[in-house]
Amino acid sequence: MQMQKNYDHKLYEEEIIKRWEEAGIFKARNDTAKKPFTIVLPPPNASGKMHTGNVLMIAIEDILIRWHKMKGEETLWIPGTDHAGTETQITFERELKKQGKSRFSYNRQDFYEEVWKFVQANKTLVEGQIRRMGAGVDWSRNKFTLEPEVVSLVCKTFEKLYQDGLVYRGDYMVNYCPKCGTTYADIEINHIERVDPLYYIKYGSLVVATVRPETKFGDTAVAVNPADTRYKDWIGSEIEVEGLSGKFKLKVIGDEFVDPKFGTGVVKVTPAHDPNDYEMGKKHNLATVKVIELNGKLTEVAGKYAGLSVFTARKQVVDDLKAKGLIDKVDEHYSHSVAVCKAGHDVEPTILPNWFVKMDSLRKPALEAVKEGRVKIYPKWRTLTYIRWMENIHDWAISRQNIWGIRIPVWYSSKENPNLIVSFINTDGTVVNGRLAELLRNYTLEDIKKGLQVLMAPAESKYKISVEKPSEDCLQETDTFDTWFSSGQWPLAILGYPESEDFKYFYPTNVLETGWEILSKWVSRMMMLGIYLTGEPPFKNVYLHGIVRALDGRKMSKSLGNVINPEEYIDEFGVDALRMGLVAGTATGKDFSFPRDRIVGYKKFANKLWNVARFIEPVLAAKQSSDSSTNEDDQWILHELELVIEKVDSSLEKYRFAEAAEILYEFIWHKLADVYLEKVKDRREEASQTLSKALDICLRLLHPFMPFVTEAVWKEVFLDEGLLISQEWPESK
Ligand SMILES: [Zn+2]
Repeated sequence: MQMQKNYDHKLYEEEIIKRWEEAGIFKARNDTAKKPFTIVLPPPNASGKMHTGNVLMIAIEDILIRWHKMKGEETLWIPGTDHAGTETQITFERELKKQGKSRFSYNRQDFYEEVWKFVQANKTLVEGQIRRMGAGVDWSRNKFTLEPEVVSLVCKTFEKLYQDGLVYRGDYMVNYCPKCGTTYADIEINHIERVDPLYYIKYGSLVVATVRPETKFGDTAVAVNPADTRYKDWIGSEIEVEGLSGKFKLKVIGDEFVDPKFGTGVVKVTPAHDPNDYEMGKKHNLATVKVIELNGKLTEVAGKYAGLSVFTARKQVVDDLKAKGLIDKVDEHYSHSVAVCKAGHDVEPTILPNWFVKMDSLRKPALEAVKEGRVKIYPKWRTLTYIRWMENIHDWAISRQNIWGIRIPVWYSSKENPNLIVSFINTDGTVVNGRLAELLRNYTLEDIKKGLQVLMAPAESKYKISVEKPSEDCLQETDTFDTWFSSGQWPLAILGYPESEDFKYFYPTNVLETGWEILSKWVSRMMMLGIYLTGEPPFKNVYLHGIVRALDGRKMSKSLGNVINPEEYIDEFGVDALRMGLVAGTATGKDFSFPRDRIVGYKKFANKLWNVARFIEPVLAAKQSSDSSTNEDDQWILHELELVIEKVDSSLEKYRFAEAAEILYEFIWHKLADVYLEKVKDRREEASQTLSKALDICLRLLHPFMPFVTEAVWKEVFLDEGLLISQEWPESK
């Protein structure tokens, strides 16, 4: 049968995927006679659709998998999807809002189940997209990050870290709404402009300006800008301040953060109740004194104001300061930005105990593995980013106040912890919020457990860390793990650590390929946790691709309206062209604009290859090839072919994917088609053996890059040989 005039990707892509699947090409076996080659697919977010970055990632990893498979290795590429805690929960809540609901309409358990259903539907979409890309993944090993085995591993790791003394509860600043009784993620907070009085208060010989005089009991310094000549000499000294209950001393610190134009240029520093002061406090080693409780009332440190709500206390404090002559002036029309929760309440930046992992002992071996070259990072210049990050890493806050995620296995006895702040949905459907001891006067522990939304445990709470529930009178922590804590164990989880045959055979994996922007968030955590649990880094090589930007070179974002949907490009140009275009774009590993022109170019290239095959195919069918040719042109193209094999191999070994693609493009288009085919057009049959060999090798070399058109041509020309993906990789002599 004659080949069609043009290559139409729409006629072939789905059929070829089915042929690979039916042949079970990508199902890996634990074949100890062969060398394993493993890649763990960075799991795309299960709640969304694939973006261009995912497409690039799949293209590069598929090149590696097909190349190594054809070289005879036992390849395993494991797919999966990620629950993406905060992001997914927020996406789901946007959906709920359309129905007039929020997470507060559900108890914890019901909300989790609702998100689960929502994610399952989207997960199928993402998996369909990975498949459509032609990704040679092993679907029989597909996993989702919230499956029971993953949850179990992650909880056990936390327990082990705790037993090894690497877990502690520490202060962390969060956006807390005392009225809602819960914390909010940064992106859930709204900032509104509001006019409030700005009070100028005398602090010894200095005057500070603040809108929150009631937090003054938590001041642990005053700060000025070091470049502000008015106050330069004060830095490092102590001032004596006349307060509401006697005199006290405060240190004057210098910090660039202070805006000399705000108020008098002197600010009070209250690390427990302001995110900027919190940062300054850490930098200058200031004490953190808590003035406001989780219920929104002032603490003991406020003396006679203790127990008052923030607004009542503010008024009384101002009145008393005025009476003492400590207010210099009041600006009644100060307009400023205020953080409010979804319900419009003022958000109280609050120090809440969160769970931390100590980094020091974990980072050392992870740093050494890279410094000693046991783990190599490509492009090489990214190595420094990794080293810098690891050298400066802080302890890691791993708890998140989300429902959607892996619940931390920490337990609070209701008897030992009367001060837990609990919010739950009562049997009559109302939300009840308060101190546990008080709630237990009117409700049973069972009711509270059943309707539990969120609990907050003050710093002094007694807890047990254990994968199993220690006793019936316990409430489980409602915080979940930071998604990076669970995905930091992904290579282990997906390979069935510690007992499975997969783990024994395929670990450590060969290449971890991902976008450079998650080098610190993800790659470093996998390194630390992988080494901690197994003694070995989870991968030998790391390849980091650049970020795909919009056509205009800016970051893609919904608000700019410049987001590119890869599926439109697949429809128009085919998977091969999209893959090649993106791979060519990331030549340097730096960020790059979406390469539309290249994609158009590679669609033409797919067609060129098709036409080269149409030229050669008739003489192959005629089977009139002679043995080795002594013709000069034949000798030339065969020699060039040898060079191409060498160059493609050497580029791939150095992770230079764009370079390898370019070599193949140049050879096929400009040497094979433009020069050689022109020269032999009148002696095609005589040259048939050389033509056959040239096409055969080009198809094999190009297959990892453009799997569809090569497989389609192969079927037209070399059908008797089976699938192209099952052929051997060409070797140069
Ligand atoms: Zn609120």
